[in-house]
Amino acid sequence: MHVYDHPTFHMACRQFDLVADHLDIPANDRDRLKYPKRALTVAVPVRRDDGKVEVFAGYRVQHHLALGPTKGGMRYHPDVTVGEVAALAMWMSWKCALMNLPYGGAKGGVACDPTQMSIGELERLTRRFTQELIHFIGPQVDIPAPDLGTNEQTMAWMMDTYSVHAGQATPAVVTGKPVAIGGSLGRREATGRGVSYLANRAMDTIGLNANEATAVVQGFGNVGSVAAYSLARYGVKIIAVSDAFGGTLNARGLDLGKLQKHVARTKSVAHFPGGESISNEQLLVTPCDILVPAAMERQITAANVNQIKCRILAEGANGPTTPDADLVLDQRPDVFVIPDILCNAGGVVVSYFEWVQDLQSFFWSETEITDKLFRLLENAFTQTLHLSRKQNISMRMAALSLGVARVREAKKLRGLFP
Ligand code: GLU
Repeated sequence: MHVYDHPTFHMACRQFDLVADHLDIPANDRDRLKYPKRALTVAVPVRRDDGKVEVFAGYRVQHHLALGPTKGGMRYHPDVTVGEVAALAMWMSWKCALMNLPYGGAKGGVACDPTQMSIGELERLTRRFTQELIHFIGPQVDIPAPDLGTNEQTMAWMMDTYSVHAGQATPAVVTGKPVAIGGSLGRREATGRGVSYLANRAMDTIGLNANEATAVVQGFGNVGSVAAYSLARYGVKIIAVSDAFGGTLNARGLDLGKLQKHVARTKSVAHFPGGESISNEQLLVTPCDILVPAAMERQITAANVNQIKCRILAEGANGPTTPDADLVLDQRPDVFVIPDILCNAGGVVVSYFEWVQDLQSFFWSETEITDKLFRLLENAFTQTLHLSRKQNISMRMAALSLGVARVREAKKLRGLFP
């Protein structure tokens, strides 16, 4: 399957192989569980504002079809490749299975730089990309959602393009839409809220008092910013945050209200007057109680894992820690890891709620949603912790084992088709 050749795909495969060894999965079943079921590559021509036509590469990978339609985000970033998307689709599979959602994993994206495109260009790109995917997505086929570089507006354009084609409003084709057109209350905040809920659970588990704890957050997008604000509400002091342009540190605690205004004005946390400048590399090794990587994959590697000085590693991003770094973390009982497929699952859980509400045309209150979200996260956290302790394996191995075993069971019951 060298079509997926990419360091992140190799990383996801290596993780899978370790889990397959742990679960003693026979050779006959391995490749079928590991490799994505199908992938589509499309050319997306867009007329730029200056009149030039540029063709962007778009992808969608669907990992397995055994449990229902596929589900996962759409990423707009210059480095998007089919291999990266395939890895992210695999992780979506294990995440949905861990959370007991009736989905296979998927992921997609366009190799583009959304920060260098106008709203009009982004709309044309999104509508054309959706048009190219028309027969590959659908409420019972594959349901996109936001990811890095995309947002509610992107989902609104996707939903509208699909609906125009279908001849009727079809809100259930995407999740993470604006509430005004069938989105769910609490979806935007869901991933960050989930991260802080689980970080709080981890603090209870290791006996750390939230009011005495400090946190460092890498990435200040939808996940990192909400995680920071909601950790602060639990009483945690946020001492450093960063984004793609740089970071800011204040050992006495950042004033999040002022930071929010600075970000609204400058579109970045960099050069915040209430803190000193810090690079992303420095940020990751800043001593703290809770470290939240909430940006890209492969940030914590063999090169920096020994310098990480946190008690809880709460993985808001997908795949922030490489398997080499995991080998080191496995020998460091001082760091409690909340693995990505558990830690950031809040997003897809509320996406599932959104999809269910759309299919029924019956909408729930935000309290109902957050309550249901926390109950599902609590359940998955408890199961993962229990398995990790019972088998003396890492939290990551426990979470992945639960996810992979459920997909395997479904495939076994159904046969070779999905
Ligand atoms: N992109 C998010 C993730 O990686 C959300 C996916 C979804 O809601 O379908 O989990």
